[in-house]
Amino acid sequence: MPDCMTYSAKKILGLIGRNISYSYSPCIHNTAAEALDLPYYYTIFNIPSPDLVPSALEGAKALGIAGFNVTIPYKQTVVACMDRLSPEAEAVCAVNTIVNDNGTLTGYNTDIAGIVAPLEPHKPLIDGQPAGIFGNGGAAMAAIEALTTHFSPSLISLFVRNREKGDELCRQFQDRTPLIQLSIHSLDDYTALAKCRLIINATPIGTTGVDSGYNNCIIPHGTGAIHSSQIIFDMVYNPLETRLLQMAREAGAVTIPGIDMLVSQASRSFEIWTGKPMPLSTVKAKLQKLLGNTG
Ligand code: NAP
Repeated sequence: MPDCMTYSAKKILGLIGRNISYSYSPCIHNTAAEALDLPYYYTIFNIPSPDLVPSALEGAKALGIAGFNVTIPYKQTVVACMDRLSPEAEAVCAVNTIVNDNGTLTGYNTDIAGIVAPLEPHKPLIDGQPAGIFGNGGAAMAAIEALTTHFSPSLISLFVRNREKGDELCRQFQDRTPLIQLSIHSLDDYTALAKCRLIINATPIGTTGVDSGYNNCIIPHGTGAIHSSQIIFDMVYNPLETRLLQMAREAGAVTIPGIDMLVSQASRSFEIWTGKPMPLSTVKAKLQKLLGNTG
């Protein structure tokens, strides 16, 4: 007979998003909670449309769900449902972590910390040099915020497919951070890319199963845009080594895989919910095994 402790109540955490059955977050957080013997269980809440998000969060208050992560496409949608926002969430107007404190919802953005952590050891190389970011979505915004608040690049170039959206993002940040110069480029401006010391891919291009129409690599082979004095950070984490990272490694550049960001942002969320640091090596080993088997 199982003893009664087997059934003792756990605090529920979960991921809010759409089509997120693929997510590795349950593996990350349940591994961490089990390793530390903490009474938490992390699950997935697939919400099919944005109009259901406010009622889902009201229900969560009534049920006493302890907290959430939020992913595509609801990081901006949930902002209006928060009672409080952390300064980072307010800065990028996007929430990826929610704490429910007896019916009061506070929204945080741990993507920024997730970007800063793997870049921190390379700060001396990044400061004073041009940086480039592919994309103009939520992750690109978090990258701009991370670079402007924790580093001092000489210039941030955004490489985008939709110039209007890129210009809008630039205007938004330029008002707040007039000291950092932002510029917009097309995806194939390889001359500007080659000048960047740091290149961050904040688009889904490179993800297993995503047909991007770019041979699944944001920079085609043989352009000369990637070389040995660069740091290439790909936010894509499935596969563990994307074609972009493979190309960068072969060129002798420093590479930062998306799994480093995934674990760093998750670790910050875990600490916000539980007050305990995440056991990083245990989580990374479990995740690498899982991704190694699927990627
Ligand atoms: P998002 O808000 O939907 O933005 C996606 C961006 O990618 C947009 O700028 C979009 O351009 C661009 N894009 C999409 N498909 C493209 C294509 N075929 N060619 C050129 N540009 C394309 O998504 P997000 O939240 O920023 O996330 C972006 C990526 O980062 C995703 O793959 C996500 O999984 C990854 N990510 C990873 C972590 C991690 O922990 N490792 C955390 C957050 C995000 P348009 O605006 O023109 O559509």
